[in-house]
Amino acid sequence: MSKDLDTILRSPRAYDWARKAIEAMESNRVWPTTLNFELWLHYVAAKDGEVANEIDSVLSSGQHFTEQVAEKIAEKHLPHAKLSGEILDAGKSLTQELESVSRALESARESSEAYGQQLASASASLEHDENSDAVRAMVETLSVATAKVRDENKTLESQLADTNDELGRLKQHLEQARREAMTDSLTMLANRKAFDETFESACAHAVATGEPLALAILDIDHFKKFNDTWGHQTGDQVIRFVASVIGRAASEGRRFSARYGGEEFAVIFPGETSRSAMTILETVREEISSRILKRRSTNEDLGAITISIGIADHLGNEHTTSLLDRADGALYASKNGGRNQTSIAPANEQTRAA
Ligand code: GH3
Ligand code: MG
Ligand code: MG
Repeated sequence: MSKDLDTILRSPRAYDWARKAIEAMESNRVWPTTLNFELWLHYVAAKDGEVANEIDSVLSSGQHFTEQVAEKIAEKHLPHAKLSGEILDAGKSLTQELESVSRALESARESSEAYGQQLASASASLEHDENSDAVRAMVETLSVATAKVRDENKTLESQLADTNDELGRLKQHLEQARREAMTDSLTMLANRKAFDETFESACAHAVATGEPLALAILDIDHFKKFNDTWGHQTGDQVIRFVASVIGRAASEGRRFSARYGGEEFAVIFPGETSRSAMTILETVREEISSRILKRRSTNEDLGAITISIGIADHLGNEHTTSLLDRADGALYASKNGGRNQTSIAPANEQTRAA
């Protein structure tokens, strides 16, 4: 049985039904005339009612929900619909107001703010119209719904802002943690893990672009003996000193230096050949060997230390392991040649499988 419109509009769920009616009309592409609104209010408020059954049969037949169809249903099922009769007589101006509501509804998809403003103006122009009670009720319903949406949007926005802040903080923590995970705590140079990642991508880049790439391995000479003579802690200071000289020399451009192992370092020279790497690293080697080291605590003279260096140029499709092996081979050539020197791996050497 169909509920009376008055009852519907006076019940606490009126706003819900009004919104549902508009939504149902919109999804069925029914023009928002007042008569239609009244019919669709019945439709949503009394799903099994006579009006709803009529509307359902029109929809399922694929028929358009024209003005004539609406009038036929209203005549049959809403003979008491004094309100709708009055409104229909009120004519064109009401239809225009409804169109403005409809347009307002459309614009809500883009901006609930703009929607609210349009509704406000629609409501104001209805103030002076005596026959517009139902329309005004509809507009008010929509205004309330819009305000609610706007409030929800505001809440959402502030929740989003909070979440964003939280994500920002989390990101900073993660970046910090990542930096720490990639840094050697003794020397503050990049650690082995960071080296592996950077070297991998440098090799991939060289393979993809054909750009030159040089890799250098540096190792402190006779360091075991140094440690045995002066102690591990002094040894640590020497490692730090060597790291600082290497780090400074390799700080330009895309160069990348790392502590590769205990007293071994590596420098990647993307886009450069062994020739320019050699120039840089010879200054490093000379700077280190020319420094007379002193023990910090006692100012005791520790003499000088030296480093040996091996450099290799990336060959064609070479993988990381092969390039590393060849740089290592060059380092051993330097060691065998008497240490405190730099060697370059021969370019014609066969590339070993990675
Ligand atoms: P070579 O000239 O052939 O390189 O001789 P070496 O003694 O330097 O080479 P080897 O690899 O035999 O020894 C490296 C030494 O480096 C062993 C270890 O005592 C020392 N070492 C490795 N890591 C550290 C570290 O973190 N701190 C200190 N103080 N010493 C380290
Ligand atoms: Mg070593
Ligand atoms: Mg050594």
